[in-house]
Amino acid sequence: QDDPLLRRQAARESNARSYPRRIPLALRQAGGIYVRDGAGQLYIDCLAGAGTLALGHNHPDVVAALRDTLDSGLPLHTLDLTTPVKDRFVEDLFASLPADFAAKARIQFCGPTGADGIEAALKLTRTATGRRVVLGFSGAYHGMTQGALALMGNRAPKEPLGTMGADVQMLPYPYDYRCPFGLGGEAGVDAGLSLIEQILVDPESGVLPPAAVVVEVVQGEGGVIPAPVRWLQGLRRLTREHGVALVVDEVQTGLGRTGRLYAFEHAGIEPDVLVLSKAIGGGLPLSVVVYNQDLDRWAPGAHAGTFRGNQLAMAAGVETLRRIRADRLDEQAALLGHRLTQHLKALQIDHACLGDVRGLGLMIGVEIVDERRPQLRLGARPADGDLARTIQRRCLEQGLILEVGGRHGAVMRFLPPLIVTADEVDEIAARFQAGLKAALA
Ligand code: PMP
Repeated sequence: QDDPLLRRQAARESNARSYPRRIPLALRQAGGIYVRDGAGQLYIDCLAGAGTLALGHNHPDVVAALRDTLDSGLPLHTLDLTTPVKDRFVEDLFASLPADFAAKARIQFCGPTGADGIEAALKLTRTATGRRVVLGFSGAYHGMTQGALALMGNRAPKEPLGTMGADVQMLPYPYDYRCPFGLGGEAGVDAGLSLIEQILVDPESGVLPPAAVVVEVVQGEGGVIPAPVRWLQGLRRLTREHGVALVVDEVQTGLGRTGRLYAFEHAGIEPDVLVLSKAIGGGLPLSVVVYNQDLDRWAPGAHAGTFRGNQLAMAAGVETLRRIRADRLDEQAALLGHRLTQHLKALQIDHACLGDVRGLGLMIGVEIVDERRPQLRLGARPADGDLARTIQRRCLEQGLILEVGGRHGAVMRFLPPLIVTADEVDEIAARFQAGLKAALA
């Protein structure tokens, strides 16, 4: 496309940018699940700010809440001082959490990004326990700041930087399709848990147990991989037995995306620390940690920051949470996620390159594999990132924005706004099918 905005972006903006290279669009307008480029072309946005836009673009209620806040004369910036907007945000957020957890929870507002929330969780748990080591998982993504990066499961982006990592230990995430334990299904879950138990106990080493384990209930950037419920329950049991804080990163999964308001609810477990961002700000930057008050042992001022708890983001967040709860968009996400998954699974029958279709709610991934190459362990074929990117380009031509992610860069990610309708889900599947056909032609 010959759009002057794209030309200027290509000339000026850093090489580090990635979405705009693969999705070369300069957007002029957006509403609901759609965005429009300079040529007037409409696209269905299945990236939706990496899952941020639960209510889609420019939802009228969110826009009205922002206008009302601007017109109200309330201060827009208060550091940590409270306002009616902040008070309402905290009350509503706590009311949305499982009651047992909320009853003993405290909240800390963090800098505006998900990574800021992760940094706070690391500091909090290390301060409270007086221990240093943190366990993370292969394929994990928690952000790009030093602490969050140290916990990244993908080594490629961090090794050249010599990222701080001495206090981090990585364990395999239960990625059943590629069987990290050499075993699938239930046997794999048992193997994974026994590995965690060995690390937590390790009587030979004489070292302290870790301060925390940081986990995503569904890995997003790592390739849309839901952890098995029994593995999560085992992780909860083991961390509790050994006095290790369980930090659940729901930056991407929180607020209905997976079919429950919080993804940890699928496993009936409760975190010690919950990290939230993305959807809670209704499309504006906001992150918080909500944690068991027993951990609240840091000194006043131990975690400060100028831009915490942005008033406009909280106003947008209040409205977003209100709509999600009033319209049961979490239940809708479960239903429509199932519908989209069924469409994608039907496509697998004729397309062996769709190696795995998986997900939870409206967080769905399709792993693209090279069907011409031999099967690896237990049936998985090698990932095919080149084909995934070709499908992405062809889908864009069909008016469908999809992001490609995963540890081999071969998982097509479907993260539509939660307001998507059944007809729109069918349309997404139809456009994907057309893009797939064009890519394979
Ligand atoms: N945790 C998870 C699970 C994420 O998906 C992301 C972002 N994709 C982050 C943390 C980091 O959030 P941010 O990009 O806002 O720093």
